[in-house]
Amino acid sequence: MFYDPAIETVPREKIRDIQWQRLRDMLEKVYQGNRFYQDRFKKHGVALEDIQDLNDITKLPFTNKKDFQKDQEEHPVFGTNLTEPFENYVQFHQTTGTTGKPLKWLDTKDSWAWRARCMAHSLAAAGVTNKDVLLLPFNFGPYTAFWGVYEAAQHLDVLTIPTGGWTTEQRLNSIVENQATLIIGTPTYMLRLAEAAQEEGIDLANSAIRVLILAGEPGAMIPSVREKLEKAWGARVFEYPGLTETGTYAFMCEHDNQALHIIESEFIVEVLDPKTGRSVADGETGELVLTNLGRTCSPAIRYRTNDLVRLEKSSCACGRTFGKLIGGVLGRQDEMLIIRGVNVFPSTMGNIVEEFLELGNEYQITAYRRGDMDELKIQIEMTPSSKDVSELIATELKKRLNLRVDIQTVPKGTLARSDYKGKRFIDERSKRSSSAG
Ligand SMILES: [Zn+2]
Repeated sequence: MFYDPAIETVPREKIRDIQWQRLRDMLEKVYQGNRFYQDRFKKHGVALEDIQDLNDITKLPFTNKKDFQKDQEEHPVFGTNLTEPFENYVQFHQTTGTTGKPLKWLDTKDSWAWRARCMAHSLAAAGVTNKDVLLLPFNFGPYTAFWGVYEAAQHLDVLTIPTGGWTTEQRLNSIVENQATLIIGTPTYMLRLAEAAQEEGIDLANSAIRVLILAGEPGAMIPSVREKLEKAWGARVFEYPGLTETGTYAFMCEHDNQALHIIESEFIVEVLDPKTGRSVADGETGELVLTNLGRTCSPAIRYRTNDLVRLEKSSCACGRTFGKLIGGVLGRQDEMLIIRGVNVFPSTMGNIVEEFLELGNEYQITAYRRGDMDELKIQIEMTPSSKDVSELIATELKKRLNLRVDIQTVPKGTLARSDYKGKRFIDERSKRSSSAG
């Protein structure tokens, strides 16, 4: 199902026309009223007249999270990335602060509505209609994570049930009692709910839930996680990625559960070689750089996400012409490890570990330094009745990644958990002498 069939199936050359028009309109306003970009563009020596077509976007400087953090530190309270007068802003959100000081981001009524429309692409692509009932298992918090979904659901006339502050048990009962058809959350929390349902004797697989929408961490594209979730919930799993700084920029369609469509009518996407800053060829892995086109009031222009992706602009069975990120977000660039000469992402190892773990058992990957070398250990949880899979995992890691890794088993409940995201990768490499081994 489409949110906007005309736009989503528009020929590729037309997409570029749309992008150019919108970029031009945005830059006019930004050059006029946005101090953050005015300063940067001036320092970079690029005037509005220098941008004559879409290719000229490469004349503009990149931005990254640190630039915005620094700006907000130097210009309290909200920094200078504000194109409009302060009184126009009505929404405040902030990042979780896992990488440095939390970033604050303001939206106007218009840009907030734009964010909802971006997310509506995602809900429509998952087949959500106004006959659905959406349960929202999240609190009234400052993180954008699920607010976009709430707004998009309102935009699409979907009945929503808020369950902030409720226990897992109350939420499960509400799902059954109110015949919710749709739920959204992190894979970690969706697995937690499934585990709790099992303990309470609630048959989720036969509940009315037909679609899970996942965000916040990888899951929908990891076959083992996907299978666990689809089996436990008797539902189809979809995923969308988004950042506080950019909004929701992609979604999964019904025809390909191993890729995400970029919303190219709302975002200009570049994939760069992180070292040289030059574009990589279609289909090659590089860093995702985003420019959003509908949030003129606080835009992200050539924003380096630090996420590695592989973009393909081939056609899709769904009929959309929007390019696809094959395999979704592949990993964070700064999390790449070099273990005895092998380049590897914690998420890739995590996917392999997940295949062997029972529902509800957590794992943790720790990277540490020994001398000049990066080293790894993996801890997995076991219940007294579970089979010891550490040998199997070690063999599989050796086979698929050519890596020998020490696997330790710990009792279930030992490893850190949170309702929002599992803490599965610990990087202790900056510690001088390691105690992790
Ligand atoms: Zn598709």
